[in-house]
Amino acid sequence: MGCLFCNIIEGKTPSKKVFENDRVYAFHDINPQAPVHILVVHKTHTKDIEETSADRAHIFSDLFEGVKEVAKLTGIAEKGYRVIINNGPAGGQIIWHMHVHVLGGKDNMGPMMAK
Ligand code: 5GP
Ligand code: ZN
Repeated sequence: MGCLFCNIIEGKTPSKKVFENDRVYAFHDINPQAPVHILVVHKTHTKDIEETSADRAHIFSDLFEGVKEVAKLTGIAEKGYRVIINNGPAGGQIIWHMHVHVLGGKDNMGPMMAK
């Protein structure tokens, strides 16, 4: 079956690409929760935050460099935006390839959590 996001990175599953470099790939979420909703994934398959380690801390800096590029390219950098990682079942993670949600395109992203 394989990993959906690995398949997207490899181009086996289509996606709307926003940004790519040798380390990360960013694309539009299929079910956007805001006017701008982009997913940033690392090209190294990592399941979740627990699967990272200090010697692979570059994964986070690579992802956040990607977030900055995405914010710039989609025009949300200046106004501001929200970054979310859903981690593990209780965190709402449904795709087991760690990813960063970049949400923006509104004047105010509203309360951090639904009550
Ligand atoms: P999670 O809940 O794991 O943090 O988020 C997974 C995200 O992946 C969801 O926002 C969902 O809409 C998105 N997603 C699921 N399947 C696909 C797909 O095939 N293509 C794209 N572009 N996004 C997907
Ligand atoms: Zn993967």
